[in-house]
Amino acid sequence: MGIIPNKENDEQLSILFIGAHPDDADIQFGGTALKYLQQGHTVNYVSMTNGDAGHHMQGGGALAQRRRRESQRVAEFMGIHYIVLDNHDGELQPTVENRHKVIQIIREVKANLVITHRPNDYHADHRNTSLIVQDAAYLICVPNVVPFTPRLTFNPVIVYHQDRFRKPYPFVPEVIVDVTDTNDKKFEALSFHESQVYEWLPFIEGYLDEVPTTSEERLNWLKAKWSPMFNTSSFVADLKASADTLNGVQYIEAFERCEYGGKLTHENVKTLFPFGIVNF
Ligand SMILES: [Zn+2]
Repeated sequence: MGIIPNKENDEQLSILFIGAHPDDADIQFGGTALKYLQQGHTVNYVSMTNGDAGHHMQGGGALAQRRRRESQRVAEFMGIHYIVLDNHDGELQPTVENRHKVIQIIREVKANLVITHRPNDYHADHRNTSLIVQDAAYLICVPNVVPFTPRLTFNPVIVYHQDRFRKPYPFVPEVIVDVTDTNDKKFEALSFHESQVYEWLPFIEGYLDEVPTTSEERLNWLKAKWSPMFNTSSFVADLKASADTLNGVQYIEAFERCEYGGKLTHENVKTLFPFGIVNF
């Protein structure tokens, strides 16, 4: 399946992003992933679906194959492993089978930290991915569940990535990562998802005619179009810490604690987020 199997020593963290689609990890977590990689930690991305529905000109097996190729190009560029599971896009269900698959992956990579979507989100696949991860949380340590993959003796910490949804409650930025210095490379990686960022998403969001034709122009356009979503100013109002903390910080990615699985505390937050600004 192409998983990076294990941490080589106790100092090396195993970081696992579990998203619904091939590109979710790159958009929501790419800047932070690059910071872990710079420090020698291991990063794995999972897409719970194969992305075979989200396009206006292509679909089915050919699109799934294209999405997987794009993900592999990201993996090579970043130095990570990108696991694309063969579930249909738009149809992901929180089945026991999917829960067991997630338990197996979390155990195999011995994840210290798992990042996923919040359970309230516009996309059913995102919601169900979140539910699957939450349902897996406790069972990771239970030996009789998925018994052929040895249980973990510690419970990985689970956090949610940032989003803009307000109900039932808005996202709380409990850990903030300054990604100003990795933003350019994040978008370079994201640009390998050509079928998403230059075709499907501009189509469905109604700006396909804006997309430039040359690859350099495209990358600059993508950065200009999407970087503002990660602008620091959009989070300052929610900061408990002084806004001075974010002086000179242009782009951030932020995370909220999940109540299930291992707990992110003042004791372990600096180990799990060595570069994080703590806001809880
Ligand atoms: Zn998605």
